[in-house]
Amino acid sequence: MKKKLLALVLTVAMTIIGVKQVTTGPSTFDKLLELAVAADVAYDLEEEWAPKTQAELHNFIIAVLYQFAEEGFIGDPHYPTGLRSMEYGVYRSSISGTYSPTEDVVGLNIRYFTDPSWMLQDWLATLIHELVHAQGFMNEAQTETLAQETIASMANLGFPGMRKVLLDNIRRDAIGAAYYIARYGGTFSSNTSEAGGLFTRCIGCPSKWNTDEAKMAQLQVVRESVYTPEELRRSDARLRYWNTGDRGNNYPYVLDAYVVRPMAGVTEAACREGNLLGEQYVRIIRRLNEGRPVGPYKMDDFAYVLRDLGWSC
Ligand SMILES: [Zn+2]
Repeated sequence: MKKKLLALVLTVAMTIIGVKQVTTGPSTFDKLLELAVAADVAYDLEEEWAPKTQAELHNFIIAVLYQFAEEGFIGDPHYPTGLRSMEYGVYRSSISGTYSPTEDVVGLNIRYFTDPSWMLQDWLATLIHELVHAQGFMNEAQTETLAQETIASMANLGFPGMRKVLLDNIRRDAIGAAYYIARYGGTFSSNTSEAGGLFTRCIGCPSKWNTDEAKMAQLQVVRESVYTPEELRRSDARLRYWNTGDRGNNYPYVLDAYVVRPMAGVTEAACREGNLLGEQYVRIIRRLNEGRPVGPYKMDDFAYVLRDLGWSC
């Protein structure tokens, strides 16, 4: 890694534009790049952890479910009927996990456990995302936002490995959101009401996307600094995959639903009184807990980590 070099480049760059920063402040794009670097430095210091036995897995799921309740996202936790590793066929490289409301089954991509090219990846964040779905939340952006705050709260409480998972998400999502801005001219927006998800089709949409080559170059410097050579090769391969054929039309929407809007939601909440999510979250759909007061959706644990990493409001 070339972190020292990057830190120097950032310091020099910030010194050069220092006067401008006083008047306008850094752009969201620049703040995302700085966040990715800061999260990566902290990520490298953390130990990994994952359940190794059925009992550990069960205890982990219980801890997650009760954390949802303690966060005020739900009333009584719902333990799904089934948890399986699954073959996703032609979607084997697109889908990390699923939740079937009809069967009440959480699925995790079997490649996490059988495919050497996936086994180094963390599946705990995917499991937590699907467990949020199992509580009745269906909107992808909202589900991912609540998953992130849950991971942050478990990390702050000292649950093993959760800080590593959280910081990995933050560095990757900050880079993903920066890519969305640089590659597509996308807006860093937290409005989740229309965020589609994996199978959103965008007929004729790509013509409106504009690539900012200067931002792409800036992003590339950060990607090469944050990712190890192995991580960079895999990230590049994934970008080639997502930019191929029909997936190329869908990728902006995948990023939008799973990365940009959750990231914008938590960073805005971090800068808001009480760290509450914005108005759009009144649209959160709850299958369980009907008629029972839940919320407010407070992102205070994620805000705590962002502050720690130097996110400026
Ligand atoms: Zn989902």
